[in-house]
Amino acid sequence: TYILAFESSCDETSVAVLKNDTELLSNVIASQINSHKRFGGVVPEVASRHHVEQITACIDEALEQAKISAKDLTAVAVTEGPGLVGALLIGIMAAKTFAWANHLPLIPVNHMAGHMMAGALVDKIEYPAMALLVSGGHTELVYVEKEGSYEKVGETRDDAAGEAYDKVGRVMGLTYPSGKAIDELAHKGNDTYHFPRAMMTTNEIEFSFSGLKSAFINLVHNAEQKGENPVQDDLENLAASFQAAVLDVLIAKTKLALEKYPVKTLIVGGGVSANQGLRERLTTEITDTKVIIPPLRLCGDNAGMIAAAAYIEWQKQHFAGLDLNAKPSLAFEIIEEKS
Ligand code: ATP
Ligand code: MG
Ligand code: FE
Repeated sequence: TYILAFESSCDETSVAVLKNDTELLSNVIASQINSHKRFGGVVPEVASRHHVEQITACIDEALEQAKISAKDLTAVAVTEGPGLVGALLIGIMAAKTFAWANHLPLIPVNHMAGHMMAGALVDKIEYPAMALLVSGGHTELVYVEKEGSYEKVGETRDDAAGEAYDKVGRVMGLTYPSGKAIDELAHKGNDTYHFPRAMMTTNEIEFSFSGLKSAFINLVHNAEQKGENPVQDDLENLAASFQAAVLDVLIAKTKLALEKYPVKTLIVGGGVSANQGLRERLTTEITDTKVIIPPLRLCGDNAGMIAAAAYIEWQKQHFAGLDLNAKPSLAFEIIEEKS
């Protein structure tokens, strides 16, 4: 099978070709970061316009790199949600048009299932599995009893981990998105500030990062009142302290989820899974479960991961009609703890 996949949920326009289950023949990614940077975040209207401008060239490039033509394809896949409605619609319109014109079935894909299945492109997932999904809009743990069955067992009550990185990064004077820069600074500093770790004493699988963000902002403001400037004078320790607080909670709750739901594989996915500190800690601290962390090129938004998740749906012949619509707040079903 050859699947042509589209991803346009946020600020990356991406088209990929996947051969069978894991052979990624192309994965073209057009990032818009430079257009959003000066606004300190993604501007939805700007994102939609960029997707319109980029998508045709991405399709051509993806087919060319894969050295195949439309008539060789088996199916077309597209992210149906979650994401920005206007951005999602561009990918959906392009995918529908391509599918209709070439008489191909259309496979709708959940963006977060995509982040999860990025790992399937590089290693064999043994089921049941647990997924730690950490990105710009989500922080959740998902139980995957068998291929294609996704059940959320816990999530953040407020900010996502990536969102916390980006908000704190703004206070640190870093450009958006600031996760990578904070990660690099953190490696040169130490946890000297001991920020609060929320939810550490509960036995629930849940996260909260808004308190950490507030604690960070308060610390900087209080220091400024005293005539100090930690952002200028102590940035590496600030970054290391923030990152240590985020990672302590991510690791603790992942361990808790693995205790409550014994699985064979832990899959990690989402933009924050590019974090070097997180990758190191997961590898050294999760020792009795196989851990799959995608390579950096598959951590951020890309259509290759959407194709990987689509392959599972293709096997089940889960297709959508040409009336497929965007689902901006699409989410996995929440399951209560099995006791
Ligand atoms: P979602 O997937 O929830 O819809 P999104 O698609 O916007 O949101 P991704 O593209 O998956 O999110 O991830 C982007 C996020 O990853 C940003 O918040 C960015 O700061 C963060 N990020 C990227 N690299 C790193 C890193 N090395 N350390 C921490 N965070 C990082
Ligand atoms: Mg992005
Ligand atoms: Fe994403």
